[in-house]
Amino acid sequence: MLELKKGSEQGPHILIVGGGTAGWMSALLLNQQLSEYGVRVSLMESEQIGTIGVGEGTTPYIRQFFSAIGLSEREWMSECQATFKCGIRFPSWSDNPEHGSYFHPFYSGVDKEPGEAFFVNANLRRRGQMAEAQPDRFFLAHYLASQGKAPKVPDNAFHLDYAYHFDAGLLGQYLKKVGIQRGIRHRLNTIDAVRRHPSGDIASVITADGEAVAADFFIDCTGFASKLLQQNLGVPFCSFADNLLNDSAVAIQLPRDYEQVLVSETRSEALSNGWAWRIPLIRRTGFGYVFSSNYQSPDQAETELRRYLQVGDEIPARRLSMKVGRVEKHWQNNCLAVGLSQGFIEPLEATALMLVQFTVERFARALIKGSPEHCFNQEVNRMFDGVRDYIVAHYKTNGRQDTPYWRDNREQTPASDRLQAILDTWRTGAELEPVLTEMESELVYFRPSWYCLLAGSGLLPDVPAQPCVGTPASYAERFFRPLAERFTDQTDYL
Ligand SMILES: Cc1cc2nc3c(=O)[nH]c(=O)nc-3n(C[C@H](O)[C@H](O)[C@H](O)COP(=O)(O)OP(=O)(O)OC[C@H]3O[C@@H](n4cnc5c(N)ncnc54)[C@H](O)[C@@H]3O)c2cc1C
Repeated sequence: MLELKKGSEQGPHILIVGGGTAGWMSALLLNQQLSEYGVRVSLMESEQIGTIGVGEGTTPYIRQFFSAIGLSEREWMSECQATFKCGIRFPSWSDNPEHGSYFHPFYSGVDKEPGEAFFVNANLRRRGQMAEAQPDRFFLAHYLASQGKAPKVPDNAFHLDYAYHFDAGLLGQYLKKVGIQRGIRHRLNTIDAVRRHPSGDIASVITADGEAVAADFFIDCTGFASKLLQQNLGVPFCSFADNLLNDSAVAIQLPRDYEQVLVSETRSEALSNGWAWRIPLIRRTGFGYVFSSNYQSPDQAETELRRYLQVGDEIPARRLSMKVGRVEKHWQNNCLAVGLSQGFIEPLEATALMLVQFTVERFARALIKGSPEHCFNQEVNRMFDGVRDYIVAHYKTNGRQDTPYWRDNREQTPASDRLQAILDTWRTGAELEPVLTEMESELVYFRPSWYCLLAGSGLLPDVPAQPCVGTPASYAERFFRPLAERFTDQTDYL
C-alpha cells in the first residue's frame, strides 16, 4: 500500500503505462486528486502500438470527470467534435411492430411525474390490462434527442442529465495536451519486460531500449494486452463469453449528412447477428456492427454493414476483436489495471469509460483512506457485474425470431441470479420495486432504466383488444413538446 502524507513535497511516483483514453483519464484524475500528497504522475506509451481508436459514446457519469479536472465543456467539446447525448434508441430488437423501437432516456427530475405514469402503465400492462407501456413519449430526453436539441435552456431553468459523443482520437490528443501542460511527465517507449521485487511487487518496467524505469506504483493501461497485470502478475481473467456472445466489431466512418437533423442520441439497431451503433459527431458519423464470430464471419458482417449503410468498398472499414469479461482483481501488489486491460463489457450502453472513471476515483479514495485492496476489488467487480447484467438483459428480452443468434441470446445464455430475479419478478407481474431496492447496492442501473428496457423491448403479455387504462402517452406529450421547444438546437449551441 502506498503511504500518502498530506503536504508532502516528494510523494510516491505513479507510472501509467499506456496512452489511450484510459491512460490519460487516469493520469489527469490522479494528478488532480493526489497532488496535495506530492504524488508524481508520469505516463509512458508506445509509438509502435496504437490505441484502439473507438469508444465515442458515454454515460452521464463522465460529466463528473470533466468537471473534476476543471475542463470547460465548450472548449473540450469543440476540440473533440463532440455532440450531446440524451439517451440511446434501440430499433429492431423485436419482430413485433408494437415494440419496433424504444428509447432508453437519461432520466432527469423533470421526468418524475410523467415517468411515474409510465411505470404505473407498464405495471398495468404486465398484469394483463391494456395500457400504453412504450416508454419514449413519457420522457423529455426522447423529444430532445430526436429533434437534435442540446440539453440546455437559455435561462438554465432545467438541469438535465446528459452525456456526450466525441471523436476518440481527438479526445485522446486533447487530454494528452492538457496532461502535459499540467506537468504530467510523458515518455514514448515500448515496454518489453517487467522486473519484480522478491515481494512480487513490480520494481521497474524495461523498455525496448533496455532502460529500467522504476516507480512506486504502476497503472496498466496497455489495452487488451494487459502487459503488466495479466501478462506479468498473472491475474486471472473471468470471461463473460457465456453471457455475452459478441466478440467482434467492424467500424466505418462516414461524413456527416447535413440534410439530416444532428440527433442528440446514439442509435443501436439490431441486425441479423448483432447490432449496429450510429454515433453522430459534428463533422462525421461513426458506425459499427458488433457481432458474434460464432454466428457470422467478419466478411459477412462487413458485407451486412455495408449493405445497411449503402456504401461500397471505397469506404474503409476497421475490424476489431473484443475480449469480454473482467480480471479477478483490478489491483494486485503495486499494480492497478484500468481500461481494456482490466476488462470490457461490449459497448451496447457505452459504459467502458464510466468503468475507467469509477475505478480511478475509487482507487484514489482507497489510497487516501488507506482502505484495503480487497474491498476496492470487490467494489469494482460489483460495478462490472452490474453493468454486465443490464447488458445481458437486452439480449434476454429480445423479440427477434429471424436467426439462431437471437434465439440463443434469449434462450441459451445464462443470467446471474440477480438478473434472473428481476426478469422473473417482471414476468409474473409482482412488485419490482422491492426487488430493485433490495439489490440496490449491487445495481448500476435503477428503476427508470429497468422499466424502459423491460417494457420497451416488449417483455409484456399479449392482451386482447380492449380500451386502454392508465395515463395516455399524449398527456406527457402535451407537457413535453412545448417544453422541448425551449431547448436550443445543438447545432446552434456547439
Ligand atoms: C468495438 C468497440 C466499441 C467501443 N465503444 C465504446 C463506447 O461507445 N464507449 C466507451 O466508453 N467505450 C467504448 N469502447 C471501449 C473504449 O474503446 C476503451 O475503453 C477506451 O478506448 C480505452 O482504451 P484503453 O486506453 O484501455 O486501451 P487502448 O486505446 O488500446 O490504449 C492502449 C495504450 O497502451 C499502449 N501500450 C500497449 N502495449 C504497450 C507496451 N508494451 N508498452 C507501452 N505502451 C503500450 C498503447 O500504445 C496505447 O497507448 C469500445 C471498444 C470497442 C472494442
